[in-house]
Amino acid sequence: MTKYFIYCRKSTEDEERQILSIEAQLAELREFAKQNNLFVVKEYYESKTAKEPGRKVFNFMMSEIEKGNASGILAWNPDRLARNSIDGGRVIYLVDTGKITSLKFPTFWFEATPQGKFMLSVAFGQAKYYTDNLRENILRGIRQKIRRGELSAKAPIGYFNEPRLRTIEPDKKTFNKVKEILRAFATGEYTLTKIQSKMFSLGLVGKDGKPPHLSTIQKILTNPFYYGHFRYRGEVHQGSHKPMISKKLFDQIQEALILNGKPRKKRGPKNFQFLNFAVCGECGYSITAERHIKKSGLKFVYYRCTHKSKTQNCSQTRFLREEVLTEQVKENCQKVSLPDDWREKYLGKVSEWEKENSQSSNLFAQNLKTELSAIKIKIDRLMDGYLEGSFELAEFQEKKNKLMAEKKNVEEKLSDFERKGNHWLELTRNWILEANQAKNLVLSENFSEMKNFLKTIGSNRCLAAGRLEIDFKKPFNLLANLPAKTRAEGEGEAENSSNSLWWS
Ligand SMILES: [Zn+2]
Repeated sequence: MTKYFIYCRKSTEDEERQILSIEAQLAELREFAKQNNLFVVKEYYESKTAKEPGRKVFNFMMSEIEKGNASGILAWNPDRLARNSIDGGRVIYLVDTGKITSLKFPTFWFEATPQGKFMLSVAFGQAKYYTDNLRENILRGIRQKIRRGELSAKAPIGYFNEPRLRTIEPDKKTFNKVKEILRAFATGEYTLTKIQSKMFSLGLVGKDGKPPHLSTIQKILTNPFYYGHFRYRGEVHQGSHKPMISKKLFDQIQEALILNGKPRKKRGPKNFQFLNFAVCGECGYSITAERHIKKSGLKFVYYRCTHKSKTQNCSQTRFLREEVLTEQVKENCQKVSLPDDWREKYLGKVSEWEKENSQSSNLFAQNLKTELSAIKIKIDRLMDGYLEGSFELAEFQEKKNKLMAEKKNVEEKLSDFERKGNHWLELTRNWILEANQAKNLVLSENFSEMKNFLKTIGSNRCLAAGRLEIDFKKPFNLLANLPAKTRAEGEGEAENSSNSLWWS
């Protein structure tokens, strides 16, 4: 009587999901053995792919057959035994040499005749063909979609999956709301929890009608999909959908996330003119304000370091009177303000440049285009390198993602430039007017405007030893660094420094 081994296999890979589970295969085969009076001596099963040789259980079973411990195999289908040419050849060889006298499959009829062996090799071949084909089809399908810029996944909030065209389109109901949220967060004035309640008030809610989870919001804020790319298996691709925001805004959001990402405690009492205006120059913690009433009944507002640092003993114990701070705010505005006659001169210069500019701007655009095609070539080469096996997947993806971000930046610069043309001249003109306007703020003693002005043009506003220090952004730093007396002094010297300022 022929002794049989039962062999079951199911791999964990997606494409084989439609295959019966190991338990189901076992049950079917036991039933089959009973009906056909097959003498089963042992059951083997494993969850491994048969695409590559090297299955442990299969190899062990084959060596048992070579030893003569059984001469028949019972399996669901030939493709359970082999999906690669080595294992398939090994089974057929054992049939040829008479070590295997019987192979039984509920789904395939086999007889150890020349015809039967031929059919078996075809079945193994078919299994291999199926594997190769499937892998190719899946990759081709995904690549095709990716090449077309389609994300094969659920659309993020603000978009929906168009079922007919299988594209991702802006969702009229939510697109502008999500955009508003992204823009708001980019200002840096929102924490995650604040943006959460803003989303809720706009009706951007989860499926359960509750405000979206903070982790969901974090995902939205970091999703490159919103500026026109998409991430697929860790790799960033060019999308074909309509972007919601620019890459520049996306970058601002990432910055804001680092600064404001953590939910913060509530702010202190309001109504102090310069609260949240500066930080302590020594320890970097915020400056707080207090009201004191003197015996005489006079009220004073003082500013001082909160001494929140646990690691560092801040020595700044000085209380600064609001009047003193106000005076310093005024001084700082004065420092970056532009006298009227300088304004006229500069504006004239800008107009002159506008005329000369049209030629050089063509060159500028040309350079950006050259840069862009260089990046595209780099991406192509990288892809070739990956397909030839010169990179590991992770390395390839990291490099590609970097290049994709670079590409987007240059593309945006170019389209910005094409849209705004002589934008930098416009910026210069704005700067001249703004700096000149600062002088008027000082004259009108509008302190809350002065404060806002200094906030926008100065990063890093520090208070130490009773002095306010501001790092002015370009080009205001140039104005601030001029010797204080130049503005006040005679024409000649003012002329010189005005010119040197202009050229720098
Ligand atoms: Zn301090």
